[in-house]
Amino acid sequence: MTAIQERTNLDGLTDIYNRYHLEEVADKWLLEAAHEKTNVTCLVFDIDKFKSINDKYGHLIGDDVIKLVAKTCKELADLETTFVARFGGDEFVILLRHLTSTEVMAFANTINQTLAALEIPIEDSLLSFTVSIGIATNRNGELNSFRELFKHADSALYNAKENGRNQIRLYE
Ligand code: GH3
Ligand code: MG
Repeated sequence: MTAIQERTNLDGLTDIYNRYHLEEVADKWLLEAAHEKTNVTCLVFDIDKFKSINDKYGHLIGDDVIKLVAKTCKELADLETTFVARFGGDEFVILLRHLTSTEVMAFANTINQTLAALEIPIEDSLLSFTVSIGIATNRNGELNSFRELFKHADSALYNAKENGRNQIRLYE
C-alpha cells in the first residue's frame, strides 16, 4: 500500500483507521466469517456527555480527549483479532473476530474500565469521563452486511445511553 493510500484509511485527528477503511475491513471479515462459520463482533462506543467536556474545557481539550481514547484503544487491541476505528465525532467502533462471547465481554469491560480510570490533568483539576458501549455479533455468518451489524450494535448503544450511560449493552 502506498503512503497516500494508507493516508486515506486514517482519521485526520487521531491517526487511527477511519470509517471508510472500517467498512472495507468489516465487509472482508464478514465474508470470511460466513465461509468459515465464525463470529465477527461489532463493538460501538461513544463518550458520555462529551458536549459538556467541550463546553467546560474548550474544543481543543475535547480533541485531546478523543486522541487519548483512540490511543488507549489501539494499545488495548491485539491486531490479529481486533480492528479499531474512529467512526466519527466521539464515536468509535472496534471489530473483534474469533472470540467467544465471554472474551468479547471481558474486552468490553476492559475498554469501559480503562477509559473510566484515565485522569487528564488540566490546570489544577483532573478531567475524567466514561463511555457507553453497544455490542452485536454476527453468529456463524448469519448476518452478512456491516450495515446491519452496526445498526444492531448502535441500537444496543442507544439502550446503554437510555439506561444511564457508563455501561455495556448487548443487542438481543
Ligand atoms: P451522550 O452521552 O448522549 O453521548 O452525550 P454527548 O454530549 O456526548 O452527545 P453526542 O455524543 O451526541 O455529541 C458529541 C459531540 O462531540 C458533538 C460535537 O460537538 C462533538 N464533536 C464531534 N467531533 C468532534 C471533534 O473532532 N472534536 C471535538 N472537540 N468535539 C467534537
Ligand atoms: Mg457522546
